Amino acid sequence: MSARIGLMAALPEEMAAVLAAMPDEARVTLAGRDFWVGHLHGREVVAVLSGIGKVAAATTTALLASHFGVGQVVFVGVAGGLGDGVRVGDVVLADALMQHDMDASPLFPRFELPGKGLSRLPADPGAVARARVALSAALTPASLADTAPQGLQAADLAALGLDWPQVHQGLIVSGDRFVCTDGECAALRAAVPDALAVEMEGAAVAQVCHDFGVPCLVVRTVSDRADDAAHVDFPRFLRAVASPYASAMLSHLLPVL
Ligand code: SAH
Repeated sequence: MSARIGLMAALPEEMAAVLAAMPDEARVTLAGRDFWVGHLHGREVVAVLSGIGKVAAATTTALLASHFGVGQVVFVGVAGGLGDGVRVGDVVLADALMQHDMDASPLFPRFELPGKGLSRLPADPGAVARARVALSAALTPASLADTAPQGLQAADLAALGLDWPQVHQGLIVSGDRFVCTDGECAALRAAVPDALAVEMEGAAVAQVCHDFGVPCLVVRTVSDRADDAAHVDFPRFLRAVASPYASAMLSHLLPVL
């Protein structure tokens, strides 16, 4: 329960909200990345921007595990929704992660990680179960209205055409592409029918954590539906919603990990 937590966010807007809540952060720069060492919600944390894409996220995760000695990694970011009923504004908690652009066929089955004999990396089941309860508590109207600096009200969400968020649990897929056309989205849904969301880092984080024997948790807020409208929805959503969601979720998550 007391291990140091590596806290990764994909985007500066989310990291700004985290740093604002860390009273004693001290910066360590390594491999061109700023790692912020300090405390958040009573836990010892090392917070860092992952960078975008699998290689950037893998390097960052390896440094968290090997240099900073974290005992757990939590990734908070945004993703494109793929699953039926996974709406913009909802939250997806990964219980498994897979690289959707890994394909060494015919030498290995599509998606399989060569040498590992599996394609899907499970998240830590105990942490997922605790996170599920914490996220549901974090994403209530009362909790979101309480988020610094000015809270998120029903009217703010309604102005963006959003309902109150629902939490989904399942498979998240990652690849080095921002999926933003109807055609690519349909192909991905057909290839991996049970994928709930697509992003660009999670499966890389999970693979490095697997190698180091460090449990990982990936939580994604759905910023777009990975379709033709994704490039419009994404920046608008990021400003208004992703950062307050990240703050609310972490304040409930960190104490139970
Ligand atoms: N120019 C953009 C690029 C963001 S890339 C910017 O910096 O504002 C998209 C980021 O959000 C990645 O970190 C990825 O993990 C996540 N993401 C959100 N929607 C996605 C989608 N539809 N496809 C892939 N990644 C997505």
